Amino acid sequence: MKSTVAKYNMLLIVMILTVALASLAFNHHLIYQDRLAHARQMLSASVSHHVADHLREDRRDGKPLSAARLTEIVHESLRIPGVPAFGAVLDGENRIVGAVGLAEGMRQAVVALPGGPGDHAMTENGDLVLLPIPATVDYRIVAGFSREAIARGIWPITASTTLFVAAALAVYFLLAFAALRHWIVAPLIRFLETRLRGSIDGIVSGNPPAALPETRFNLLPEEISVNIERNMMALHTWARHKASFDKFIAVSTAENNKQQLAANLYNILGQELPIRNLAILEINHSLNRLTPIYDAAGEPYSDDLLADPQRCFVYRSGSRLVQMPGETVCGHCRTNAGEVLICKPLVAAGKEMGVCKLTLDRERMDHELSGAGNGNPVAVAEALLDTYVYLTSLSLSNLTLLDSYKNQAITDGLTGLYNRRYMVEYMASLLSISKRGSKSLALFMVDIDNFKRLNDEYGHNVGDQVLKTVARTMRRAIRECDIIARYGGEEFVVTLPETDSAMASEVGERLREAVAGIEWDHLGLGNIPQVTVSVGVAEFPLHGYSHYHLTNAADKALYVAKRSGKNRVVIHEPLPQEMIDDRVERFHEEVAT
Ligand code: GH3
Ligand code: MG
Ligand code: MG
Repeated sequence: MKSTVAKYNMLLIVMILTVALASLAFNHHLIYQDRLAHARQMLSASVSHHVADHLREDRRDGKPLSAARLTEIVHESLRIPGVPAFGAVLDGENRIVGAVGLAEGMRQAVVALPGGPGDHAMTENGDLVLLPIPATVDYRIVAGFSREAIARGIWPITASTTLFVAAALAVYFLLAFAALRHWIVAPLIRFLETRLRGSIDGIVSGNPPAALPETRFNLLPEEISVNIERNMMALHTWARHKASFDKFIAVSTAENNKQQLAANLYNILGQELPIRNLAILEINHSLNRLTPIYDAAGEPYSDDLLADPQRCFVYRSGSRLVQMPGETVCGHCRTNAGEVLICKPLVAAGKEMGVCKLTLDRERMDHELSGAGNGNPVAVAEALLDTYVYLTSLSLSNLTLLDSYKNQAITDGLTGLYNRRYMVEYMASLLSISKRGSKSLALFMVDIDNFKRLNDEYGHNVGDQVLKTVARTMRRAIRECDIIARYGGEEFVVTLPETDSAMASEVGERLREAVAGIEWDHLGLGNIPQVTVSVGVAEFPLHGYSHYHLTNAADKALYVAKRSGKNRVVIHEPLPQEMIDDRVERFHEEVAT
């Protein structure tokens, strides 16, 4: 701030000096010109009058005028205050016959002057005036003065005038600057500091004030005030947009649920735009199907549209769609009276992710968005929407990728069932839940019978197909809450929460029958022998506490099933009663702690 003031002061001094110097030069020139004219006029008048007067007197005497007399008269006439004059009398042959104050260097110039009444000329050294001499033909008079002498004489006047002008200017500028600073600059800075601080703090903190203070800034002309206020409003709006967008960035990057992501978009964007409804339809590329993952108003979508995404103009074309009230541009999305429909494609890294559908209140749009941007509320809404849509597309794409990675990590690529890794983790949590709730839990170990022979005789591809079909069949034969995993090769593990061995044996039997009943003709595998499975059953807590012990027990039962002819269900052999009592007791103790 201080250095700015110092700069202004320097600028002020330079300005005053410049103006003072300019005025000095101009002033000097004016005075000089004035003095020159004055000297010429005075000299001419004085010499003419004197000579005329004496000629009249001398004619009365009847005596001719002598060169000496003429020189005397000239001498008399040259006594003009402030004019350093000189003069000469020349005879008919242009010789100097009398001189007054004529410097040696001037003689040449005087003689060289053209003759004749009224003539005058300027020489290098001085201004010479050739004066008319009436009533005598014998002599002529030349009078003049030195311009240098005139110039020298006016310096004190010029200097004092200039000093006065400079002082006046300094006072004027100081007063003008003080007034400018006091009435315009200081209030403006105060205004900007107080009013803008809120906005700037808002921008920095992400919490802009809800509205501009009511006070108006009246010290500046109306037009400037209005402009400043308009710009300030734009700044506030921008700050609000930025704060909302920052919030959305924060939640969208932290969110791992697509529905919640869309709900966040609806809530945050709803603070910026007069939204009535927001919906997101996501494309499932493998099923070629649109899925409404979010619709704030819970509107239904026709299956025709969802099952055939190409029917959606925005998805098909990758272009946005705007439908104003009263228009019917899109046949699939209805809009209510007074609503503007804006649909945007969701695209991330060049890949279609789906469509974002938005309905807005037309009246509020006109009212709230007309002032900003180019004044077209739809364009303003679209511009704002674009950034959100872009970020939403990216987040959706990330979540889809994450889902697919997660699925890949826990599912078996061939059968689509959970893999062994998932089952081990799942069993750990299932066991702890069962322990806490003192609930029973059954576990199946399932193995396809004679699978090696099938593989050997019909080839690996047929083996794979059989694995897939058996897996699908078993999945369908159990409850939703039962989990089945491919444990390795042609072995599967099934967990059945809240199921004891008696019930488990029934379910195992159902599962075995389902596999044995698969009609392979329908699948183009009519030539293969009937596929069967053997099932080993173990129960928690009777046959084991840990995952390891339980699977071990089920494995043993499976071994028994295989040994006793395959295609059957075997429950782990009953343990001696003392062992059971001991285990149940330990189980209850463990649960109690
Ligand atoms: P058992 O009735 O005693 O269970 O005999 P089995 O032939 O079914 O058992 P065995 O363990 O001897 O053979 C299992 C075979 O399963 C060996 C292996 O080639 C086959 N297999 C394991 N994983 C796959 C797979 O992903 N695809 C196919 N096609 N075969 C597999
Ligand atoms: Mg087998
Ligand atoms: Mg096996």
